[in-house]
Amino acid sequence: MAVTENEGNALMSIAFPKIHIAIAGIEKIIPSLTDLDLFWPLLATHGTGQNITVYNSIMTGPRQQDETDGPEEMYVILLDNGRTNLLAQQEQRQALSCIRCGACLNGCPIYKGVGGHAYGSTYSGPIGSVITPHYDGMKEFKHLSYASSLCGKCTDVCPVRIELHKLLLYNRRDAVDQDLNPGTERWIFSFWKKAMLNRTLLNMGGSRLKNFVLKNFFRKAWGGRRELPKMAPKSFNEMWKESKR
Ligand code: SF4
Repeated sequence: MAVTENEGNALMSIAFPKIHIAIAGIEKIIPSLTDLDLFWPLLATHGTGQNITVYNSIMTGPRQQDETDGPEEMYVILLDNGRTNLLAQQEQRQALSCIRCGACLNGCPIYKGVGGHAYGSTYSGPIGSVITPHYDGMKEFKHLSYASSLCGKCTDVCPVRIELHKLLLYNRRDAVDQDLNPGTERWIFSFWKKAMLNRTLLNMGGSRLKNFVLKNFFRKAWGGRRELPKMAPKSFNEMWKESKR
């Protein structure tokens, strides 16, 4: 069992108790001890910018006869807790290779704005939004996959090349396929699609109608403390036509 930390607290909490119970997700198993040569510097560099974390410990079992410190008994519990659900998803399973460095959180403009508590889940940020719906329920946590601008910064900074912004889209697709989105949302998007494909419909009513719709249907979603944007009096399409006359 390998523990990496900067303060030494984990090492201290292992030394005192008589029984040591270690709990780890099943995805935390690496092929061999020598692979730590890669994983430890990778984690430190992308987590905190260090070449290597300050304290790195390897435990192979309980205290031996000639040793003075360490527990008398040691148990390792490998936790599934939804991880095999994720493994069953062909596209999203790559998220299981996450090493929890936190680089995607630090890069994410949404996480930087709202912080970790807003996600309401153990894992926050882009990786949390990808894995939580599979660990704790798509119905309850599908909204996390929408808490993203899909800018792709998370994917750029991920040391193990998880395509996070794409996986968020796959989660959204799965939520729709499972019929978990409310009927009003489906109705709004079908109207939106029709309008976007039809220029006459898009220009209908001009800016007055659009501002009316914004004010009466999107005020709450936009937030009471922010000023609603105002539609330009003429669309680009209308101005373009006028300039060609
Ligand atoms: S998804 Fe990538 S960047 Fe984010 S915590 Fe995991 S390994 Fe680090």
